[in-house]
Amino acid sequence: MQRILYAKPSITDAEVRAVHQAVSTGWGPDCYADLVRFEAEFAAYLGARHGLATSSATGALHLALAALGVGPGDEVIIADTNWIASVAPVCHLGATPVFVDILPDTWCLDPDRVEAAVTPRTRAIIAVHLYGNLCDMDRLEDIARRHGLWLVEDAAEALGSCWGTVHAGARGIVGVFSFHGTKVMTTGEGGMLVTSDADLYARASMLANHGRQPGDARQFWASALGFKYKMSNIQAALGRAQLARLPELLRRKREIFKTYARLLAAPRGAGLITMNPEPAGTTNSYWMPTVVFAPETGVTQAAVLERFARADIDGRSFFHPLSGQADFTPGHGNANSYSIAGRAVNLPSYHDMTDADMGRVAGVILDLCAGD
Ligand SMILES: *Cc1c(COP(=O)(O)O)cnc(C)c1O
Repeated sequence: MQRILYAKPSITDAEVRAVHQAVSTGWGPDCYADLVRFEAEFAAYLGARHGLATSSATGALHLALAALGVGPGDEVIIADTNWIASVAPVCHLGATPVFVDILPDTWCLDPDRVEAAVTPRTRAIIAVHLYGNLCDMDRLEDIARRHGLWLVEDAAEALGSCWGTVHAGARGIVGVFSFHGTKVMTTGEGGMLVTSDADLYARASMLANHGRQPGDARQFWASALGFKYKMSNIQAALGRAQLARLPELLRRKREIFKTYARLLAAPRGAGLITMNPEPAGTTNSYWMPTVVFAPETGVTQAAVLERFARADIDGRSFFHPLSGQADFTPGHGNANSYSIAGRAVNLPSYHDMTDADMGRVAGVILDLCAGD
């Protein structure tokens, strides 16, 4: 039996050819040839005016918040259930993260908790669309508008998730994406900032390039203290080849989720487990098919991961509350964040996995539901 990994990119000859081409010829006058095209093609796909390719989503978020002027004394509201990458830039800019609880069904920001957390110091809300699930953007937009806050979308896990034809990452003032090797499409490491705001784009581009103003006649002249968060042309060539296959990559992700949903229909119907929701009128990219065990089952995350390990399956832990990590203060009021993390896992979902692989994974979940 082969080990079942939880994630692995889908790389074909098209990607290999694109990288070979870029590494062979993408120098000198062509050193940004794939990069500028990748940014334009990605922004067009998303329905945003500008794309700025970066070395990671973490970098893109750091740039976005810096370009918005977030800094010391500011508070930024974010869900407690998240990966550390979504909050580290807030702290590095000297701002204070305010962790609020998640909704039990989407595992994303609870808008009522967001509203209650707003203070005179709040500057921004970071809406992270977790595992492909969409935040309640209608409510968040309303809250942001009434309180004069920036609404930033971390869509690193939601490339391909949409409300109708509107993409996750294209609704806030700025959105960020990741092309890490575990994401729907990859550039090895990499990210993208997207925005339709020309001023924000100009400021983020300048900051991403060590504070150099595009078109400045002076060489090696920094107009501001910036960062180095650029993507390489070689990575962009890989990104373009992946973007061309994105519909196929997304189709497969959805197929994998649907297969799991079918295999797990009985315990879902019985209310023993819940999985990623897809409200009417929306599309879920299903980046990470996720299973949350009902409290009555008594099944814990540790128990599931232990069973997976014994079956040679790479289990993936649902995110632990951030407030309990690093030197943050545990958010004891965030009951859903703390409770769900203890009884949830992400299921393996790489493109090349077989129905038999999914059967093996589902078998472990079914056994646990049956109390075996
Ligand atoms: C993967 C991820 C990131 C970080 O992406 P990098 O490209 O590794 O910096 C940020 N936010 C979310 C929600 C992610 O899933």
